[in-house]
Amino acid sequence: MLADNIFLKIVQKQIPARIVYEDEHCMAFHDVNPQAPIHVLLIPRKVIPTHADVTEADRDLMGHLHVVAVRLAETLGLGDGYRLVVNCKDRGGQTVPHLHFHLMGGRDMGWPPG
Ligand code: 5GP
Repeated sequence: MLADNIFLKIVQKQIPARIVYEDEHCMAFHDVNPQAPIHVLLIPRKVIPTHADVTEADRDLMGHLHVVAVRLAETLGLGDGYRLVVNCKDRGGQTVPHLHFHLMGGRDMGWPPG
């Protein structure tokens, strides 16, 4: 059930997370299974299941998320570079149906990703 995903529970403070940033539109917290020395998830409070569900109505929100991602990268000491990833749907490797950006850094990143 989309309105019952684990990230919504984190947004609603029903389950704990290591929160690094929050405002009225979004929240960022450390990934429970980090794939880099810094691995933070940035999510909107609004439930948008996948990146493919973003619409014109989300224009300002998506811009805000990117501005927050830049500030987070600075705050987290990723001035030497980082990777911002969105996995979309099953073939994109998405496992939690609540739009989220992976902000990862602190090591060299390979390309192509797996
Ligand atoms: P996806 O595969 O959907 O792009 O990414 C989901 C991410 O959420 C994974 O990196 C996974 O480790 C993380 N994750 C899943 N459940 C939890 C949780 O309960 N708490 C936190 N902090 N991260 C989680």
